[in-house]
Amino acid sequence: MKIIMLGAPGAGKGTQAKMIADKYGVPHISTGDIFRANIKNGTELGMEAKKYMDQGLLVPDELTVRILLDRVAQDDCKNGYVLDGFPRTIPQAEVLDSELTKLGDHIDYAINVDVPDENIVKRMSGRRACLTCGATYHIEHVPPKKEGICDVCGSELVLRDDDKPETVKNRLNVYHEQTQPLIDFYTEKGVLKTVDGTVPMEEVFAAITAILG
Ligand SMILES: [Zn+2]
Repeated sequence: MKIIMLGAPGAGKGTQAKMIADKYGVPHISTGDIFRANIKNGTELGMEAKKYMDQGLLVPDELTVRILLDRVAQDDCKNGYVLDGFPRTIPQAEVLDSELTKLGDHIDYAINVDVPDENIVKRMSGRRACLTCGATYHIEHVPPKKEGICDVCGSELVLRDDDKPETVKNRLNVYHEQTQPLIDFYTEKGVLKTVDGTVPMEEVFAAITAILG
């Protein structure tokens, strides 16, 4: 079972990807993780990627795809995988598609965890972080015992720049520009499945397992 996860940053697709991987016994492959692993292990692909990252540049699609294909060629991917954070662009999706076709293979499902932007902005703006010890909270879902104060170390909690509405909105705009074409791409292939990501994560997961069987 080969699955691609689509969903805005903050929609909870990483959590769902892990739950799918656990239930179906397939690896959860996050692009960030495989980049880090390749760099840590000093592979040729990793060193090449690092050159771009060190300069603050995006790793080119072609190299990202090579790193990904190298990962999915490993033994533990024989029965499938869940891709999280890849493909991010149409060129990546096209290369993945043509490489899989060469192997007589294809993506079975592209699962779109759909959460309206305003919900994501609201979720993120409720986050609070302790910059001293790294503990994280959410004013609604994981509140600290004393408002604005870290349970662990007693420092003052802050809303990180990354979680501020303006930053989140900008990130969502970039996401929509890149991802809407992917949604169209996988719709045309007949593998796109959209689930409502606004409900509790157990319900999102139930909707996904109903699709996957
Ligand atoms: Zn703290």
